[in-house]
Amino acid sequence: MATPLVKLENVNFYYNRGKPSEVHALKNINIEIPRGGYTAFFGPSGCGKTTLIYLIGGIETEDTQEGHILINGRDLRGLSKKELAVYRQIGVGIIFQQFNLIPSLTVLDNVALPMAFLGVSVDRRKKEALKLLDRFAMTKYSDRFPSDLSGGQQQRVSSARALSNNPPLIIADEPLGNLDSENANKALEFLKELNEKDGRTIIMVTHESWSLRDAKTIFHLKDGEVLRVEEPQKKKGSQKSLTEFLHRELFPKAA
Ligand code: ADP
Ligand code: MG
Repeated sequence: MATPLVKLENVNFYYNRGKPSEVHALKNINIEIPRGGYTAFFGPSGCGKTTLIYLIGGIETEDTQEGHILINGRDLRGLSKKELAVYRQIGVGIIFQQFNLIPSLTVLDNVALPMAFLGVSVDRRKKEALKLLDRFAMTKYSDRFPSDLSGGQQQRVSSARALSNNPPLIIADEPLGNLDSENANKALEFLKELNEKDGRTIIMVTHESWSLRDAKTIFHLKDGEVLRVEEPQKKKGSQKSLTEFLHRELFPKAA
């Protein structure tokens, strides 16, 4: 079997370990996330979703972590500081729950910034950032500052930034958080497009069940544990493949 893009083995994570305020935020997590998949982490607030993606994103690397996080078969714990930084810069793009845009930088510079860490020239950075902003219909805001933008607009800038170094893995933490239904729909369509057209592996975190509609694998979380794994399309699989089969038989040219 192909090596999964992300694999967690017996992962436990604690905040304030050993103190009275200790929180056992993740408990014995064992999961695999296939390359090219669209995976959701679903569960109520406080169940450990953000902690989980911070571990996968190589952001949280405290020694209060037990177990192994393997990216394409390589243990993040075995990486040097420099390798870990490279992974964060080009391996994964995170659309943060609170957007995390830098207030003192323009929209354009926010999107171009991750490329600066890779030594891309200023001209090229600008060109690529403008292309990304165009994809999100945000070109006309490129000289504005994050505080001038609505939540939906900040989210689009955050999405553009997540793509700027072309990472194979995109993580979106509650991407629908504060959006109205139209923008929420757009955000979901965008993640689906990134998965289906651009071939990116998607991890989406949510506490709203309606937003699971495009996920192919859903991990249900509660109190830091994975309760169950659901693969909605596999359930419908037999029926769907029969329909596809008939369609191919009846319309061989169209298929
Ligand atoms: P979710 O994203 O599902 O809402 P989190 O991963 O943010 O959940 O939090 C999981 C648990 O860890 C919660 O009980 C939360 O209160 C706790 N927690 C999160 N961040 C911290 C922190 N920095 N210090 C202490 N406890 C934290
Ligand atoms: Mg969270």
